[in-house]
This record gives sequence, structure tokens and C-alpha cells, in this order.
Amino acid sequence: MIPSVLPTYSRAPFAFEHGEGSWLVTTDGRRMLDLGAGIAVNALGHAHPALVRTISDQAAKLWHVSNLYQIPEQEALADKLVELTFADTVFFTNSGTESCELAVKMARKYWYDKGQPERTDIITFDGSFHGRSAAAIAAAGAEKMVKGFGPLLPGFVHLPFGDHEALQAAVTPNTAAILVEPIQGEGGIRVLPDACLKGMRDICDASGTLLILDEVQCGMGRTGRLFAHEWAGITPDIMMVAKGIGGGFPLGAVLATEDAASGMVAGTHGSTYGGNPLGCAIGKTVTDLVSAPDFLEEVNRKAGLFRQKLESLVAAHPTVFDSVRGTGLLLGLKCRAPAADLVKAGFDEEVLTVPAADNVLRLLPALNIPDEDIAEAVARLDRAAARVEAAAG
Ligand SMILES: *Cc1c(COP(=O)(O)O)cnc(C)c1O
Repeated sequence: MIPSVLPTYSRAPFAFEHGEGSWLVTTDGRRMLDLGAGIAVNALGHAHPALVRTISDQAAKLWHVSNLYQIPEQEALADKLVELTFADTVFFTNSGTESCELAVKMARKYWYDKGQPERTDIITFDGSFHGRSAAAIAAAGAEKMVKGFGPLLPGFVHLPFGDHEALQAAVTPNTAAILVEPIQGEGGIRVLPDACLKGMRDICDASGTLLILDEVQCGMGRTGRLFAHEWAGITPDIMMVAKGIGGGFPLGAVLATEDAASGMVAGTHGSTYGGNPLGCAIGKTVTDLVSAPDFLEEVNRKAGLFRQKLESLVAAHPTVFDSVRGTGLLLGLKCRAPAADLVKAGFDEEVLTVPAADNVLRLLPALNIPDEDIAEAVARLDRAAARVEAAAG
């Protein structure tokens, strides 16, 4: 008999009763060290006092009003994001998938309005992940996401990851945009080298193509800069944001330059919940904290500490781990043993990690994880690796 919850996930056999910083406490009282952070969502850990205060204060005032009216909380967050980034304008969504939908629509509308309606193709890359809507699965194109869900939204051109020549050859007069994650999250913490991102920007500049960055997982301070593309010294035309920006509350955004957004006039797009006062008040607190002067410096320091310990861990378990990858606190352990076995052994050692493609174990702790929790995390991963070694005999 089908469970009352549609069984599209295979879930671990425990649930959580509350959370506190980098820790989650199960309903039967086990304290688990959380290196998943809701898959890069709980950027400030669980029950951060400033977020609890913001949500309580705002909840007592106003949760939702329609976008038919002015929403000062939304304007405040948009102003802040515009001040901090390349963007001139922001549309608020409720998820990464919804941000993907708008990014695709915005790019196509741009060329339609410029009198080049044939420019509808969007180039994407192997191993990418952009969400689960019909457009987002067509964009990613992986068989396991699209099989059985056809006919797919046309107009996506899939290229190998990090192949500059293939990309150059694939840009045609019908290309509207290139859509890429600066670091593939679900794809296995595959970092697009800065030179590749710069090369993409050059190709876009030469052909007029729009550059859409999906920073849903790698943005909001995760890599040690507010957005990952800052490391490469380039800017996109359109950027998808979600996950960390709400700190656990469902919130996403599409950021764009004035030019890229020029087709999106009144009536061309909307969202009932997108940009509601509650979500935007929380997003503002998260953004203020993450963009505060010392915060990202601390992320980089913690990332250095974590990475150094992980390198030693890999060296200590050569049959289990292959290497460390990633930037900032978007880290992956490329495994030799099945990554799924390590996730399970981690449960036994009360440390939560997230598997990714390419046999990678993802480590995405809260950006403010205390140093002692980093040390504890590595100690637990060390014991989990020993369990996997013992099971292999
Ligand atoms: C999670 C993710 C999405 C989809 O976000 P949802 O909020 O789950 O819809 C899109 N792109 C990337 C890179 C992601 O990691």
C-alpha cells in the first residue's frame, strides 16, 4: 500500500525533534552533528537567535500580502542584494526550481523583445542540477531525472562539463543563454575552474549570449565569498539564488542586470507567495549577517581548518577516500568505497553527510560552525571510515 507521504525519497530511519547550531537532536534523543545543513539551506545553523527573533517579530505583524501591494520588507531585501551584487533588480521566489523557471523565461523574453525571437536555445552542462520542474529537468537533461516525463521542454543544448572548445562550437545565432553552476552541487562538488568561467563570460560578451549562473547551492557565502562567481572576477547577467538565503525558510530569488531583465514588464511573471513579508524579513536578516564584514573571513578561516583536517583524514583512509574537493564550506570527499556506505556509517557515528553524484560525500556545514564542531566532525568521519574499512575486511 502506498504510504500517505508520496514515496519519492528513500529516507533515513530517524526524525529530528529540534536543532541547535550545528546539531540536530532526534526524536529518541540522539545528538547528531549536522554536516548537511538541509543541503546548504541552514546557512546559519539551526535556531539561530537572530533568525528566531526575526521570524517571531514578523509573524506577530504580517505574514503574507499579495504582490498587488507595496511590500517594504521585499524592497529592503532587494535593495540590499542590489547593493551587494552585480544586479540591478530582483524577483523573489520560493525555491531554486522557481528561480530556474524565471531565469529561462527572462532569457527568452530578452531576445524576443530585441527582435531575435529565434534565440531560444539555452546551453547547459552534464552533471548539472537546476531543480525538478519540467523546465529544470529538461535543462539538466540527465536520464534519471527526465526518463518517463516527456515530452520535455525543448531548447536545451547539453554539453560536456568544462569543455571550452565544445562550448565555443555550440554557441549559434539561436543561443539565448548559457546556464551553469559555478560549482556543481548535486553533480559531486565539481568546481568549474575560474578560467572556464572567465572563458564563458568572454564567449557571452562576444556573441551577446546571456550568462545565467545557478548559485542556488554555492551562493550566499557558501564558498567564502557572498557569491561563488566573485572568485573568478566575473559577473553574470542573471543569477538564480535560493537555499541559504532563507536560512531554512523557503525563499529564492532571481537577480539580474537592468538590460537582462528588460523584457520582464508588468504582467509577464508572478508568484503568489514569492516575496512575502515573512520570507523577506528572514532573508534580510540572513543576508545582513552573511555579508557583515568579518563573517566571510571567518567562513574562509573555518574552511581552511576543515580542509586541512579532511586532507589528513583522506591520507589516513586511502582505501575509503580518494581526495578532497570544493571551495569554502562547499566540500566533497571523493570516495573509493561507496559514498552511500559512508553516509550510513556516519549515521552510526552520529554525523550527517549528504551523498552526491560521482561517488562524492558532501560536507556542507552551517557557515558559522564552531571550530570545536569541525574537529568533532572529522573525528566522527574518521570513525565512520574505520567502520567502512572493517566491513570491507
Ligand atoms: C537545490 C538546487 C536547485 C533546486 O532548488 P529547490 O529549492 O530544490 O527547487 C537548483 N539548482 C541548484 C544548483 C540546486 O542545488
